Amino acid sequence: MSAINKTSIVLVLIVAAMLPTIWPNPYYIHLMVVIAIYAILLLGLDIVVGYVGEVSLGHAALFGIGAYTAGVLNFQLGLPFLLAIPASIAVTGLFGILLALPALRVNGPYLAMVTLAFGTIIQILINEMTFLTNGPMGLSVRKPIWLGHQVTGTDYYYIVLVALVATIYVVQRILKSHLGRAFEALHDSPIASDCMGVSVYGYKVYAFVLSAGIAGLAGSLYTYSEEYISPNTYNFELTILFLLAVIMGGRKTRTGPVLGAIIVVMLPNVLSDIELFKVISIGIAVISVVYSLYMLVTHQRSLNQVAIPVIATVVLATSGFFMENITDHRLTIFGVMILFVVYYLPNGIMGFLRNLVLKFKPHWIQRHVLILEHGDKNHVWSVPDHPVTTNGHLLEARNIVMQFGGLKALSEVNLNIAKGTVHGLIGPNGSGKSTTMNVLTGIYKPTSGEIEFNGKIITGASPSKIAGEGIARTFQNVQLFGEMTAIENVLVGLHHTFKHSLIDVVFQTPRCRKEKHTAEVRAASLLQFVGLEALANEEARNLPYGKQRLLEIARALALNPSLLLLDEPAAGLTAPDIKDLIEMIEKIRGHGITVILIEHHMDVVMSICDRVTVLDFGQKISEGTPAQVQSDEKVIEAYLGGSAKEA
Ligand code: ADP
Ligand code: MG
Repeated sequence: MSAINKTSIVLVLIVAAMLPTIWPNPYYIHLMVVIAIYAILLLGLDIVVGYVGEVSLGHAALFGIGAYTAGVLNFQLGLPFLLAIPASIAVTGLFGILLALPALRVNGPYLAMVTLAFGTIIQILINEMTFLTNGPMGLSVRKPIWLGHQVTGTDYYYIVLVALVATIYVVQRILKSHLGRAFEALHDSPIASDCMGVSVYGYKVYAFVLSAGIAGLAGSLYTYSEEYISPNTYNFELTILFLLAVIMGGRKTRTGPVLGAIIVVMLPNVLSDIELFKVISIGIAVISVVYSLYMLVTHQRSLNQVAIPVIATVVLATSGFFMENITDHRLTIFGVMILFVVYYLPNGIMGFLRNLVLKFKPHWIQRHVLILEHGDKNHVWSVPDHPVTTNGHLLEARNIVMQFGGLKALSEVNLNIAKGTVHGLIGPNGSGKSTTMNVLTGIYKPTSGEIEFNGKIITGASPSKIAGEGIARTFQNVQLFGEMTAIENVLVGLHHTFKHSLIDVVFQTPRCRKEKHTAEVRAASLLQFVGLEALANEEARNLPYGKQRLLEIARALALNPSLLLLDEPAAGLTAPDIKDLIEMIEKIRGHGITVILIEHHMDVVMSICDRVTVLDFGQKISEGTPAQVQSDEKVIEAYLGGSAKEA
């Protein structure tokens, strides 16, 4: 963390700690407590919404579960505050599992519906389970008494502030660890995550449960802040408000949730004071006009694009002078403002500010930068060797049939891959090569047939399981984690080397640091192996296509595979790059890794493959050494004749 960041964090903390002294109004202190509690919840919600990219409409209910757990434990059992809080986190986390396990089997709108149903059911249960929750009458609790001292509203502000700082710290640690990288990866490319051994389903559930636990913390703090809870608080509107706060504040930041909480709590108050409203709306209008002018002058936006935001903010500012009473219009204005932010600032306010700052590119604002040591640049090998000790087959696929509706993409295909060889898989477009790869890596379950890898039957296993067995792959349509840097992509491939737990992450134990360091060094040398060390800190989506393919190979090797599947690795490479690639594949084989190579460039296939299988219309039409296959009549007719003409 840079010195500037550290200083600003300390400054913000000092200001926050002094607020009750500068502004000793109990009403405002209570508002600040609510802001801090909402911010805690939003930090957790952002893990699901911002990082994993799923919409949860169940977070008000989780908040309610946390609140009621603390309420019931305190009201019915007289459990003290310091036990009720962790109990609420645990109980809400358990409900999180209960919700996540079925809900995360589905995606997008379906997931939103399941979480919405969960919210409704929880609200009904709270209402109906009168013996526990006192039903619609609600529960009253008191703030704790510590050492004979009744905790006051101001004391409670400090308690909540400590909880907020702790939450920010823990969430930040988690998101910067291999766990956070897994969350980001599964959002960027679920298919590649699974094939790198990062189970998409598993980590989505993980993220959801973390998020639920944090909602439980927020809920229980809320109970003691309000000293009264009733079922109606935890309704659909609150869920929507939470989502809006995350989106408005800015996803994938720690400041966004805090800002979002301030906005949703303060805005309704601001909108009841016409003088304050005038000041703020004029401020917003000035920013909007100045920014739009800047964008116009520098030709980054057209007049059409800036017209509506400028008009809207100016109208908003002038409307303050025509309204006698703002309270009648405040919901409308609130709604318009939300629409405006969501539409014009898709990355939220913090995202907008960050982009603004990045435009002027101060050198201290950078993503995770790893300085590589300038060691040996000649293809450093950082993957353990796989000495070929026994002969025989590493992989046997028997009678594989893959049917898509009426189309048989593979029919009765048999493949035997000998250990330590490069096995070519060729055939015309649509002949079933990529489908074979998808079947072998578990992305498709074959309609019938059996796959044996390393003496184990892996038919029907999940992609992440198969990856764990030692099969790594690249994709015909490159599947990188676009928003991550090159080295972070490779680190996702090294996910299996991170054995430390959540606790290690939070407390940054020596074990955690050591594993992290080892992985980073290994990732750096893998990048060197494919010749990308200079681009280590470049975002993957900004790399040229050919380099992206090389990065995929580095990431696949990170898995420490014994079998590597390459789907058209030479596509998009220039002639000299192809020569490098051939050399690289030979080196990979030299380390005992078996390779299955799908390729259209016949020179590549002919120069490195030990054996070649030819597919046509989902059937194996030939198999043998490159020379045998090349002179096979059937192959010439189906494939080589055509491709020779094209070439
Ligand atoms: P290629 O040999 O060019 O890699 P593919 O394996 O991608 O060929 O495709 C083989 C056939 O299977 C094609 O006809 C393709 O349209 C079909 N196919 C592949 N995946 C699917 C899918 N998920 N659903 C339906 N058809 C598919
Ligand atoms: Mg293909």
